[in-house]
Amino acid sequence: ESSARPPAMAEAAMAARVPPDEDGDECLPQYRHLLSPDLLAGQVAFITGGGSGIGFRIAEIFMRHGCRTVIASRNLQRVSEASKKLVAATGQQCLPLSIDVRQPQTIAAAVDEALKEFQRIDILINGAAGNFLCPASALSFNAFKTVIDIDTMGTFNTSKVLFEKYFRDHGGVIVNITATLSYRGQALQVHAGAAKAAIDAMTRHLAVEWGPNNIRVNSLAPGPITGTEGFRRLGGRFAEKSDLFSVIPLQRAGNKTEIAHSTLYLASPLSSYVTGTTLVVDGGSWLTSPNSFSALLGIASSSAK
Ligand code: NAP
Repeated sequence: ESSARPPAMAEAAMAARVPPDEDGDECLPQYRHLLSPDLLAGQVAFITGGGSGIGFRIAEIFMRHGCRTVIASRNLQRVSEASKKLVAATGQQCLPLSIDVRQPQTIAAAVDEALKEFQRIDILINGAAGNFLCPASALSFNAFKTVIDIDTMGTFNTSKVLFEKYFRDHGGVIVNITATLSYRGQALQVHAGAAKAAIDAMTRHLAVEWGPNNIRVNSLAPGPITGTEGFRRLGGRFAEKSDLFSVIPLQRAGNKTEIAHSTLYLASPLSSYVTGTTLVVDGGSWLTSPNSFSALLGIASSSAK
């Protein structure tokens, strides 16, 4: 049989390789499993920032693979509404909880409640973060500190609480959502770039110290991802219009489902021998995208309007 296909079919097959996504914080209307639907059956994932954007889609995809979830962030109404949508779309349990990752006692209370509800936690996704575009010269001391507090301290605080309350004795998997910003010193991003670079370092330190406890620790660094607050704030639409995506090797932004799929790999036994590493999921973007200070200042002022 010939392997040559009619062009239309080949095109459709190509398109099918990019899994569909929904722009807002809504579940996917349809989902085609690429992996076994019971890949995470019986497991429980604790997802910070799980009420919106990438974290929301990670929760959905995990639940579609048999996982129960805890989604936790500051705004209880946001996580409660997200939880209703996730349960309706997947039929799995989802517990919404309010935490501020800067305050360890709020994390400890949430982890206690999650353990009371589910008796176990297998996976921690550190997704909570804050970001905005700002030149270092205009960045206040406090703004820099806030991003370090939420991203870096928040990731450490949550990991340590989970370690003490459950992972030390039962093992576990941690996936830290980071970024590629520091790889080339991305303009207007010294705060987030420094915060995420510190998390990638933390990933390696904790992988070394906690490996003997059967805990795997990895980072996942997304590129520009459509349908997210990050994308909107960091000038995604401007970039789309100005054709900035054509310099990305895969010629497009990524979507939340793609990030969730790569996170599923890192959280599941598919990556059972992977620890202490960063998986970059960016279509090759950081290798080729321009890092032009003046062009990015244009994005910052256009997205502020
Ligand atoms: P997002 O929807 O704004 O997600 C951030 C989440 O963090 C929100 O749900 C927010 O919920 C929560 N959060 C913020 N401060 C918190 C705190 N102090 N305590 C607890 N939760 C807190 O943004 P996203 O774009 O999907 O980003 C998700 C992750 O991907 C982030 O780590 C981000 O840095 C990373 N990332 C995104 C992109 C992108 O293109 N979007 C690219 C690279 C990396 P509350 O407001 O309710 O607290």
